[in-house]
Amino acid sequence: MDKTVHGFLFDLDNTLIDREAAFIRFANHFYEQHLRDTTTMPREEVVAKMVLWDEDGYVDREIMFAQWIDEWPEAGLAPDRLLPYYRSEMKQHVQPDADNNRLLADLNRQGVPWGIVTNGKTATQHIACQAAGLDRLAPFIIVSEAAGYAKPDPRIFQDALNLTGLASAEQVMFVGDNPRADIDGAKRFGMKTAWVRRGRQFPDDLLPPDHIVDHAAELRGIVRD
Ligand SMILES: [Mg+2]
Repeated sequence: MDKTVHGFLFDLDNTLIDREAAFIRFANHFYEQHLRDTTTMPREEVVAKMVLWDEDGYVDREIMFAQWIDEWPEAGLAPDRLLPYYRSEMKQHVQPDADNNRLLADLNRQGVPWGIVTNGKTATQHIACQAAGLDRLAPFIIVSEAAGYAKPDPRIFQDALNLTGLASAEQVMFVGDNPRADIDGAKRFGMKTAWVRRGRQFPDDLLPPDHIVDHAAELRGIVRD
């Protein structure tokens, strides 16, 4: 139990929602809709390529779409329709994480300040929050596109700290899966950190997390009384 933690900030993708699983469901659906009847490439290879190009959502969507169009010209994908298609489809494949949402509802009941700090496009990230039931739970959601700067820029951590109403960074724990953007970035700003490991080793060249978890809901054990 860490009694010095008075508030939390959470990354969204692969921290509060299993974005990787949602993207894999989407990629399978995309194969069914656009490629099954037009390409000889096996489904597993299509999905693996799409996951690779997605880079956990960190690559610009237009760059990712250009790779689909290059790789599968036979599918006749319409470039101008891909973004709305992608957004509406991903929304169907994002699912609420019951354990995380229970933890967040408990934080609200206990009056513990918290919020979401996510890198990405404003519309995409708000749609994902709605699909996961997080829009109704979160006291605030900061999206990098609207903020004008992205993690690990210290200004986004400062904005988030201000919204918690807490006085100093060290009272806040940042929970995220990205070693550089979430953990190293928040540590440099003076916050405590918990890393969602997803089966990976933490890189040697970054400031290490204070806690390592497999699932954000494990933080229940370090929530203040
Ligand atoms: Mg993430």
